Amino acid sequence: MKLFDVYPINNITITRAKGSYLWDDKGQQYLDMYGGHAVISIGHTHPHFVSRITQQLNQVAFYSNSVRIPIQQELADKLGKISGKEDYQLFLCNSGAEANENAMKLASFHTGRKKIVAFTKSFHGRTSLAVAATDNPSIQAPVNQTENVVFLPFNDESALENYFSAKGSEVAAVIIEGIQGVGGINLATSGFLQKIRSLCSAYQSVFIADSVQCGYGRSGLFFSHDHAGVQADIYSMAKGMGNGFPVAGILIAPFLKPKHGLLGTTFGGNHLACAAALAVLEVMEEEKLMQNALSTGEFLMKRLEKIEGLENVRGKGLMIGFDATGELKDLRKNLLNNKQVFTGESKPHTIRLLPSLAIRIKEVEEFLEALEEEIQQMMITPKLVNPV
Ligand code: PLP
Repeated sequence: MKLFDVYPINNITITRAKGSYLWDDKGQQYLDMYGGHAVISIGHTHPHFVSRITQQLNQVAFYSNSVRIPIQQELADKLGKISGKEDYQLFLCNSGAEANENAMKLASFHTGRKKIVAFTKSFHGRTSLAVAATDNPSIQAPVNQTENVVFLPFNDESALENYFSAKGSEVAAVIIEGIQGVGGINLATSGFLQKIRSLCSAYQSVFIADSVQCGYGRSGLFFSHDHAGVQADIYSMAKGMGNGFPVAGILIAPFLKPKHGLLGTTFGGNHLACAAALAVLEVMEEEKLMQNALSTGEFLMKRLEKIEGLENVRGKGLMIGFDATGELKDLRKNLLNNKQVFTGESKPHTIRLLPSLAIRIKEVEEFLEALEEEIQQMMITPKLVNPV
């Protein structure tokens, strides 16, 4: 049987990983500045992560949500404390798209309304409503297209105000990433997030903070929306939550009331997933990884800003982007092939850095050295080929 060929892949087979490093089947070492798409939060194969999951696996891996699963409450307690949202409620599921799908459904159930406001360059996942709220028609099947979702310009307060004045009473939810990831590391301004908060409150619409990529400590605060000093009504989480174990969830404000059967999933909140998620939070706390994300991210950004050739260095914490154009357009590919460094991309020319929150300064230095060498090489090579 063939695999359904939907991923453009690099010809690399990873067989081992530790901290911020990966090794392939030939023993070649790679530096991971990508975290497998912002997923690796506490570092690959962290010993506490491995032992907590192993211990759980030997006790019970799964039973359905038809019985009490005390480790879910343990996770909710820890999550409430670390995120500062102890009065919120937790619903567990399996992926970022599923988290956003449930967030938007819940908003619609609660308000009895149909309209979802999303923004240009947004990415919220590939399930039907999540992809409908994603600003990329090429990944929406005809069946996903709906007039219930409206896209407004990102960071445009007056466009948002005008829309609410006209249609506010029909809006079930506004969904926004605090820092757009797939869209190219675009930061929502504090003013824009505050405007969303005030309009959602005024019109009784639900404010959904998609924190699948920018959340879980990556920005240096637990949710990137926290930098603006606003409280959303629902926060969606996935990626970093399980350090690679598939686990996701939504944090739900107290005014949104549950009812049996309202939401559900077979795998969500299983014992193993909760053990993985707890291990992540325990390590984040023990090793002060949010503080590390903030300080190491600042260090990295300051150094990137000084590198000639890189444009528009931007981001927060360890969610950083810059543009590489012209003679540097193949920089990302070259970093992987020539320097064995994994980075992320956002088309057409943004390089995204999403390393583990546990990355150390010496690993960042190693990255910067590789980056500077590669850039220098790329800047001289054309001159050698075409001497004046
Ligand atoms: N939301 C954001 C902001 C994302 O970046 C992603 C994935 O990249 C998703 C949602 C979808 O998450 P998943 O791929 O786990 O469904």
